[in-house]
Amino acid sequence: MCSGGNIHVAVDGNFTLRHNARSGDCPEIDYAMQCILPKFFVDAVGVTHDIAAKRKPRMYLGAVPEDVIDECEDSHKAADSGKGKATSTAHDDKGIMALVCRHDIPWFACNIDTPGEQQKYALSLILAVLLHLPPSATMAVLYDIGCVTSRIIQKYDILMPGMRERLTFATSAMHAYVHQWSCQLGFNPRLQLGFGLTDGEGVERLWSRLRDLISILRCVSRLRRLVLLDQHLFWVGQEMRDDLGRWDTRRTKLIKKRTDDAMAELRMSGFTLADVTTSPDGAIPLIQHQWELQRAAQLSVRSMTKPRLKQELQAVMKIQDDIAKVEDDIDMAEDTLGRGPSSADARRARAQLRDLRTHQATLRAAADALYDSLNVEETLPQYREYSPTFVRLLIQAYDAKCITRHKLIGRFFEWDCQGDARSAAMRVDPTGSYSRKKRKATAAAAANTTTRSLCYERWIKGALEAVIRCY
Ligand SMILES: [Zn+2]
Ligand SMILES: [Zn+2]
Repeated sequence: MCSGGNIHVAVDGNFTLRHNARSGDCPEIDYAMQCILPKFFVDAVGVTHDIAAKRKPRMYLGAVPEDVIDECEDSHKAADSGKGKATSTAHDDKGIMALVCRHDIPWFACNIDTPGEQQKYALSLILAVLLHLPPSATMAVLYDIGCVTSRIIQKYDILMPGMRERLTFATSAMHAYVHQWSCQLGFNPRLQLGFGLTDGEGVERLWSRLRDLISILRCVSRLRRLVLLDQHLFWVGQEMRDDLGRWDTRRTKLIKKRTDDAMAELRMSGFTLADVTTSPDGAIPLIQHQWELQRAAQLSVRSMTKPRLKQELQAVMKIQDDIAKVEDDIDMAEDTLGRGPSSADARRARAQLRDLRTHQATLRAAADALYDSLNVEETLPQYREYSPTFVRLLIQAYDAKCITRHKLIGRFFEWDCQGDARSAAMRVDPTGSYSRKKRKATAAAAANTTTRSLCYERWIKGALEAVIRCY
């Protein structure tokens, strides 16, 4: 398929537009939904997904190694579990997920009635759009975890025949930074041809338009919440369609500014326009060639860390540490016994210590042999010329980097909490006046978030200093 697709859409979930369980439901309303997908459709996609996931996965060659996407999935699950727990009992409907077009106009949405952001919601929205498109039309989907959804679609037959080939995925531009660098090489829209300036954050802008509904939707009956949401989404869509002229003018100005900025940056870098544009004879420009070499090097499976080997190395190094500690203890005991009176018992104890030292030397030799048997040189040839001590320091530095990265991801997801706090500040109580108590609680939550952020900053500084010390 052509890179970038015929149309761009963005998908994301929102967990603040939820419904209080104690607000109850109402009798059936005679209303045909225009944007919100019916529950049976979403559940049918969920069942198809569950059945397909039990079958043998299809072999496919992805742009990004599987290990990297596994890590993306794990970090998303960790961030997502908090959302699920927070809303598990008090709320029967947990939020909504929406799909918007390149102009941020909402096309479809669905109700989230299970804890967490399950794949069935995004898949239903994508399927609903594909069912409305001509059979040859291609589509690029931007989603926070586009890398994970892409892998699921490639591995399992969840969509109808011919649909999989028409889809391409990317992560939304801002969320791309919580993914591994190697994942970004395959899924960051800023690094893919054909995505232009599409950032995939249009759904966040839609949530901003819906924020006034938060308090109302929690208190109305369950079905009425969906009707209100559907009508509001349809109205927002119509408003935005009427405003498309102004949208286009704004974007045209923005493109001009971005082009000027990029040209200024290019001049500063010392390269010329000829270095970045294809020449008439079709030769690949210098910068593009360099970029392709960098991608190939950083996406190669050899450049990835081998988690299993790393664990084995750490286990052997722990044994070596323990042996060194026993050696120190023997030295200390020998020293103490040497200073005492020379009795028959002391002589016997010293003889036993000598035996211990012989055993300990054998143990050390066995640990070294164990290290050699891991065959680090063959699995990671780049470490061949370095000593085990240096490899150990390297692993510690890598660990420090991973921990720092996870903390930064945590910090990133705190912005979501700050967003929630801001939304809460806008809420009004049922009497129509701002609740003083709620405002105080919101301010306290915001203060807590700031304190936690400051702690992280200090922590990250400490970790970076530790890495520098390692070297
Ligand atoms: Zn990823
Ligand atoms: Zn559009």
